[in-house]
Amino acid sequence: MSHSPYAAAFAEPAGSPIRELFPYLSRPGMISFAGGYPSPTLLDGAGIEQAAQRVFAQGAGILQYGATEGAPALREALARLCDARGIEAKPEDILVTTGSQQAFDLLVRVFVEPGDVVYVESPSYPATLQALRLAGARIEQVPVDDQGMRIDVLESLLANAPADALPKLIYTVPTYSNPCGTLLSQERRAQLASLAARHGVIVVEDDPYGELRFSPTAVEPIHALGARLPSANPVIYLSSLSKTLAPALRVGWMVAPAEVIRRCAIAKQTTDLCTSPIAQLIAAEYLNAGRYPDTVERARREYGARMQAMVDMLQAELGGRIRANPPEGGMFIWAEAQDDLAPGALFQACVDQGVLFVPGAAFYAANPKAGTMRLSYAAPNVDQIREGVRRLAAAYNSALSAGK
Ligand code: PMP
Repeated sequence: MSHSPYAAAFAEPAGSPIRELFPYLSRPGMISFAGGYPSPTLLDGAGIEQAAQRVFAQGAGILQYGATEGAPALREALARLCDARGIEAKPEDILVTTGSQQAFDLLVRVFVEPGDVVYVESPSYPATLQALRLAGARIEQVPVDDQGMRIDVLESLLANAPADALPKLIYTVPTYSNPCGTLLSQERRAQLASLAARHGVIVVEDDPYGELRFSPTAVEPIHALGARLPSANPVIYLSSLSKTLAPALRVGWMVAPAEVIRRCAIAKQTTDLCTSPIAQLIAAEYLNAGRYPDTVERARREYGARMQAMVDMLQAELGGRIRANPPEGGMFIWAEAQDDLAPGALFQACVDQGVLFVPGAAFYAANPKAGTMRLSYAAPNVDQIREGVRRLAAAYNSALSAGK
């Protein structure tokens, strides 16, 4: 048997199941419900251009390396943003990362050794699963229902875990989750924070979508609840400017205790030394210019309208055949076919009809639920959404009759 030159985790690696859909995207006329991309029409190009001009006017100093922890101006602006979300964070509690994706990867490097247990809500964000697989973690799935992670199941998993199989981390997207769009109830948030504190386990609250709510009232981040517990806050908070401002900036951040920030900064030193200082300064200028609240408000309204268009159209075209709960924010609808379709048949029929979604299997570490799919309404406009759902319905019916 020939010996692999690669590290074990990379001997036979599986790439991102979502990025593997990219070749289909370039087909002419394809309507995509697949990516988690913000709508290009909602990105504030003019505002970012003005911020960039002010940054470049500062002279060649901006072309230098920056501090690994992040540009002071951005850490301050992000601390104010956290404050607006109900999280008390000083600039030094924040590590700026190259997308929030990097923040989770740093946490995995800092906390997880091969064989360590990590709990994830299931279904879960695929890049999280990928990072954990590459780290050799033992992934345990905690199911979700319409209100997010099942805390009753989590509680019994934790109660029954032997001391050496307690999870190093519990990963969740509690606010308008990816992929389900669910919102973890306030009661479950408090239960999750106190369970984690009681068992000495860290919760990673990944929150790229929380600001994209369709209702006027915000929910309190789990991090804020954790900070009010008598013991040290068990919740590490991750967020990102990708969904609200611009994914191309690659600006995310982590709020964590000093000892975690210090270790993650050391891990980051060997990865990229620092997040692009130019991107950070542009982001800081933008946030300080006061345009951000309006930009987010526009996105909320538009995504709310697109979500409603998709839900209405699914009901009109496929009511009874596909189950889908309207989310209260974010970018995703999780849908479940109610018929027993042959595996892969719906996806292939959709590709033939010119519409894409992400098959649900991408979001499970094991035992994927058949007939599930993630639909994003964020990037296509309302007309494209209507046409895309018409195609989905035609594909559904042809997959159904092919299976008979
Ligand atoms: N977490 C979740 C749940 C996401 O959906 C995404 C983006 N798809 C990310 C993290 C990563 O975002 P970024 O690296 O662009 O900040």
